[in-house]
Amino acid sequence: MPKLISFDIDGTLELGDPPGFITMEMVRKVKEMGYVIGSASDRTLDSQQRIWNTSQIAADFMVLKHDIGRVREEFKADAYYHIGDTDMDQFYSERAGFRFLHVDSGEESIVAADKDFRVFFGA
Ligand SMILES: [Mg+2]
Repeated sequence: MPKLISFDIDGTLELGDPPGFITMEMVRKVKEMGYVIGSASDRTLDSQQRIWNTSQIAADFMVLKHDIGRVREEFKADAYYHIGDTDMDQFYSERAGFRFLHVDSGEESIVAADKDFRVFFGA
C-alpha cells in the first residue's frame, strides 16, 4: 500500500501565505515516489484547488482541515502523515490518526519519521 501525506498550505507550502519551506517540487517528487498527496487546510476547497492548479500537481485529495479524518476513511495507506505549522494542524491530524510533523521541526526529526522524506531536503 502507498503512504499518504497531507499538507497544510499557509505556513507550510511555498505557495502558502506566509510561504513555508516545502516547495512544490518536493511535493511533486514525493508524489512521483508513489505517495498519495493532498491538502488539508483552512482555505476553501476552491482556493486549495487553485494552489494545485498553479503548480500543475494532481492532488489526490483536498479537505477542510477539520475534515482530515475523511481522507483516512477514503484512502487505504500504510502510513498517514500531516505536515503543518500550527497547534490546530496537530490537533486535527492526530485526532484523525495521522502522524503530525511540524514543518519547522528540522531535517533530522522529519527524516526520522520516514527516510523517504530526505526528498524534502534534496538528499
Ligand atoms: Mg498553516
